[in-house]
Amino acid sequence: MQNLAIDRERLWDELMETAAIGGTPKGGICRLTLTDLDRQVRDWFRARCEALGCTVTVDDMGAMYARRKGQRDDIPPIAMGSHLDTQPTGGKFDGTLGVFAALEALAALHRAGYETFAPIEVINWTNEEGSRFTPGMIASAVFAGAYTRDWAHARQDRQGETFGGALEKIGYRGGERCGDRKLSAFFEVHIEQGPFLEADGKDIGIVTGVQAMRWYEMTITGQDSHAGTTPMARRRDALLGAARIVDAVDACARKFPEAVGTVGLLETKPGSPNVIPGEIYMTLDLRDPDATIVERMESEIIAAAKRIADNIGLTVATKNILNEPAVRFDAGCVAAVRAAAAASGLSSRDIISRAWHDAAYVSRVTPGAMIFVPCKDGVSHNEAEFSSKEQCAAGAQVLLQAVLDYDRRLAERFGEK
Ligand SMILES: [Zn+2]
Repeated sequence: MQNLAIDRERLWDELMETAAIGGTPKGGICRLTLTDLDRQVRDWFRARCEALGCTVTVDDMGAMYARRKGQRDDIPPIAMGSHLDTQPTGGKFDGTLGVFAALEALAALHRAGYETFAPIEVINWTNEEGSRFTPGMIASAVFAGAYTRDWAHARQDRQGETFGGALEKIGYRGGERCGDRKLSAFFEVHIEQGPFLEADGKDIGIVTGVQAMRWYEMTITGQDSHAGTTPMARRRDALLGAARIVDAVDACARKFPEAVGTVGLLETKPGSPNVIPGEIYMTLDLRDPDATIVERMESEIIAAAKRIADNIGLTVATKNILNEPAVRFDAGCVAAVRAAAAASGLSSRDIISRAWHDAAYVSRVTPGAMIFVPCKDGVSHNEAEFSSKEQCAAGAQVLLQAVLDYDRRLAERFGEK
């Protein structure tokens, strides 16, 4: 077995070069999906892949697949990748590291003239961030059959432009039907976006799964009334109820060691300085690696919200709008990552992803796993997001080894037939 090595300087240079496409003064990237900046980085990615001898295909969700031939082109490819879109105040590593680590792994095969058994593909998934068009991870979700293509194309941004229209405008609505492509496996490198690897001093996170997540909309209804003339005893203040519910969410999540609960959006009506708020719209996001804990939190919070509302003379309506079960990554893919970290001489630990990623959706239809690298202070979705050249390189090296390990196993499996 050849000892293939990725080129850490080249990986770093590509990350820094493309970070200029949408680069912000504070050192981050603002490259919203399907904007002209997204087109520019896609064009860059396509040209680089073609220079490495790859064929680039685009599907009707704008997902890009750069393919390097294998010995057996009839076998579905082993794929790797992530996303090139960012948050409005995004960092240089979220998503981009997964794409460029994959590109560098593929470049290492190309430099060595190494012929894999299965074809190898690098994928750039469209709109992972969900910032311009909601929901996020929409291309990988369509790929996995979680949403229909037509529904996804009809999503609108705040200016009323549709996802399908934006795809056309930048010239990235391809002919292949999203989801038609079969993959043998999918591996995604990503910065951890949390503090655990750094705190433990580990180079690599072997991601065994993704935590369960549920989202809710809550509408709290009281009564608008005059802030000066309504005595405290006669108020039905919906914002007071919301404040107490926010506190109850925090208290509930703290009872479970791994749970998190967040009220991230709150709208006050009528929104006037001298009117007691009569209606509140707010969102609730509950997560835990164990879906049964999320269910317990849900029932506790709904009961607490009802008690709080009854005390103030309010009503609360809660609607579940998103329900993502916990993900268990494929044992074979996770084993390939574990073996790759060991073979690369890197320290590692098992970890559950706290954020959702394209790999979580893809793993519904394809064996998959993820590789985490530490990021400074666990900060992400922020222009200050940072992983070092060495940390990025470690992720790419483990990715390459994992893909080669998986490829050998595929060759054995098909060889036996
Ligand atoms: Zn990401």
